Amino acid sequence: MDETDLHRCAVLGGVSDALCERVYPAPSRPHRTAFQRDRDRIVQARAFRRLAGKTQVFTSRASDHFRSRLTHTIEVSQIARDVAAALGLNEDLAETLALVHDIGHPPFGHAGERALDRCLKRHGLRFDHNLHALRIVEHFEQRYAAHRGLNLTLGVREGIIKHSRDYAATEHPALVGYFLGERPPLEAQLIDLADEIAYLTADLDDGVESGLLEVAHIRENVVILRRCYEAVAKEHVGVEEKYLFNEALQLMQHALTDDLIQTTLTNARAIGAESVEAIRAHPERLAVFSEQAESERRQEKRYLYDTLYTCPALENEHDKAEEVVTALFDFWVENPQELPPGYFDESEAEGVPRIVADYIAGMTDHYILLQFAEVRRAVRR
Ligand code: MG
Repeated sequence: MDETDLHRCAVLGGVSDALCERVYPAPSRPHRTAFQRDRDRIVQARAFRRLAGKTQVFTSRASDHFRSRLTHTIEVSQIARDVAAALGLNEDLAETLALVHDIGHPPFGHAGERALDRCLKRHGLRFDHNLHALRIVEHFEQRYAAHRGLNLTLGVREGIIKHSRDYAATEHPALVGYFLGERPPLEAQLIDLADEIAYLTADLDDGVESGLLEVAHIRENVVILRRCYEAVAKEHVGVEEKYLFNEALQLMQHALTDDLIQTTLTNARAIGAESVEAIRAHPERLAVFSEQAESERRQEKRYLYDTLYTCPALENEHDKAEEVVTALFDFWVENPQELPPGYFDESEAEGVPRIVADYIAGMTDHYILLQFAEVRRAVRR
């Protein structure tokens, strides 16, 4: 095996690669690979543009500098591409999967997702943003005359579903074509970690921007950030705290990225993996952090939960999200004829609750609030 990277374990992505197969025939383009074409199809999808209007952690009302789901997505794609390049993996596939990884998220961040899931549970259904992302790219995007959906390659559809978790065939028989008994290729595995690196950095940054977190408190309580801050403070004596904090965040991002690259390389070598099949056949995911980085990741995540995600200011927003999502869900389930005609027609085959969830999940924060105001007016009349 090559000493410096894992290029033998990369998804090839050539014309003979089964992962490049599409459901509907599409003539190949001489100057773009199949995964590059998928990337461009995703970037031009309406659901991708709507990420600009969806909350990551903070709604944009208080500052223009907070991440949206779109800017978060771009940050994840930078990291994913870097890691894939360093490991000799298929950069196009990694970038494409990063760009699509959050396309199934509803408005209002995780609060919106929890609310939608609670609504569906009352009807014996669940909301899963990975499976919703697959519904978007296979069904709701309509850009082609001959078929519905974006007609993405098998490799990208598999990565959309499996980048962050595995699914059992017994529970999800419809997904049987996605190699459920196997791990996804490294290009998909690394997306979940690139996502972690992006938000662990960004949420501290946005948390300070919001005034809900203080640099001194983070330094006292977040082990990895403290270490990075001490290193940059030694190098830049007498520099203002806010610049040192920025430098520390960058150092933290580099440290986690380097750790992911090194640990993945070490793990793949340890099992003697020389092909994507070997990566798939291994019972555990190989793209992970080292033990130390993983424990520091958990420690920071706990801090973010306790100090930021569940703080009173954000809980107020979460309560509002819950109220809006639940009220609209209940309204359309009781009055499906008020859905846009396309959705109403679909509800015959799929049942009203699932289609209402699809409709709500696609909305931006702004649009769902407009709908909420309109429905409230209509109910009062
Ligand atoms: Mg994400």
